[in-house]
Amino acid sequence: MRSPIDRAAVERLTAQRAAKLRARSPRSRALFERARLVMPQGVPSSFQAVEPHPIYIERGLGSRITDVDGNEYLDCHNGFGAIVAGHGNPVIARAIAAAAATGTQFAAPSLASVEVAEELARRFRLPRVRFTNSGTEATLDAIRLARAFTGKDVILKIEGSYHGHHGAVMVSVHPPLELAGPRAEPRPVPFSDGLLAGEVARTVPIPFNDADHLRRLLEARRDVAALIVEPIMMNIGIVMPEPGYLAALRELTARHGVVLIYDEVKTAITIAAGGGVEHFGVVPDLVCVAKAVGGGTPLGAVIGSAEIMELIATSRVKQLGTFNGNALAMAAARATLLEVMDGAAYARLERADAYLRAKLDAIIDRHGLPAYTVGLRAKGCVVFSDRPIVDYRSWAMYLEEDLNRLAWLYHLTSGVYMTPGGDEQWNLALTHTERDLDAFADAFEEFARDVTRSA
Ligand code: PMP
Repeated sequence: MRSPIDRAAVERLTAQRAAKLRARSPRSRALFERARLVMPQGVPSSFQAVEPHPIYIERGLGSRITDVDGNEYLDCHNGFGAIVAGHGNPVIARAIAAAAATGTQFAAPSLASVEVAEELARRFRLPRVRFTNSGTEATLDAIRLARAFTGKDVILKIEGSYHGHHGAVMVSVHPPLELAGPRAEPRPVPFSDGLLAGEVARTVPIPFNDADHLRRLLEARRDVAALIVEPIMMNIGIVMPEPGYLAALRELTARHGVVLIYDEVKTAITIAAGGGVEHFGVVPDLVCVAKAVGGGTPLGAVIGSAEIMELIATSRVKQLGTFNGNALAMAAARATLLEVMDGAAYARLERADAYLRAKLDAIIDRHGLPAYTVGLRAKGCVVFSDRPIVDYRSWAMYLEEDLNRLAWLYHLTSGVYMTPGGDEQWNLALTHTERDLDAFADAFEEFARDVTRSA
């Protein structure tokens, strides 16, 4: 089918919507000008930088946030998915307030740390847990454990995936195709200046959804310590594993003595109580979690087999951190895991995903957009492509980036706050109502009408 997209309109509408965004956010603009004198790009993390300027947020409650200009948004960003119960959830807020009043930091173990560890072990079907303060620290510790356990150096990662900002994984995140080498043998491409060349060379990218590639590679080399993989790729929109793919990874890594690490920083407790482990039923050797498990506080964890985590028990691997098991984080995580994110919560997220995607699918159909939806409970996106995206190369080649960006601008200027950039889109929370999701779909329909010749 010929795409009905009006290409000239896309450019015009993008300029119009960017102007609208600027007009409704003068205080954010002023704060941006002030902020960039003290913070590079005017933001605390480069992932928060966005054109024409970031929106500076003042507060949030339930499904809503308010910016410094007084604009209220339906929040579908939810702190990059760290918020799954809604802002200011009363159970979590009470737990944090109680911890704040009785001591926030001891750098000593507590009852709550034991309870949170037990619950993570139960959900992710692996018996041992250590806490970190972020997803980055979780993947760093997991990779160190894998190297210590195997006595090998090389890390395999999926081309296109992001696993945090330490050197071993800042490789082939979104590599320019002209630098990435042939698909049959992707080349490691540094994601930042300042990395050690020797470290970059020890991280080998492989394509997602291609178990044969891994089979050939593991038959050819003996220096591989670990494969780190998101059970569902979530930094190039959302790419589901093909049936049998994760089981094949499990079988191949076990056969070749390679540690299989799931990066569940995004999927943990958002797509299922026990993330990808529960959803697909394939258990790796180590699982990295962060984001939503902290109930809005900075928390991560490595969850692993007794055999590998024994390296920490015997002090051969040092797993450390002043704030590991911090009282605020433990209180928030305990409330989130044991009191809020129960069976009813997952049923609610499942209904919300089905409701929203049915509406978006109908709009895509009605206007003939080159797009499709993918979603699972809290996580979802519209993929702007008329071909299925199965890995990084297909995403880099077929994603219609200009439509992706314009849809983002429509949402933002219609009062729906979304994650910046093309990597991910919506994060649903328990507080989203059908009316909220109707508002999301209405903004999308306006976009669909305006960019197609059906206007
Ligand atoms: N792994 C994945 C899959 C992520 O999406 C992220 C963050 N976007 C990280 C690791 C790093 O987590 P953090 O930002 O907490 O360091």
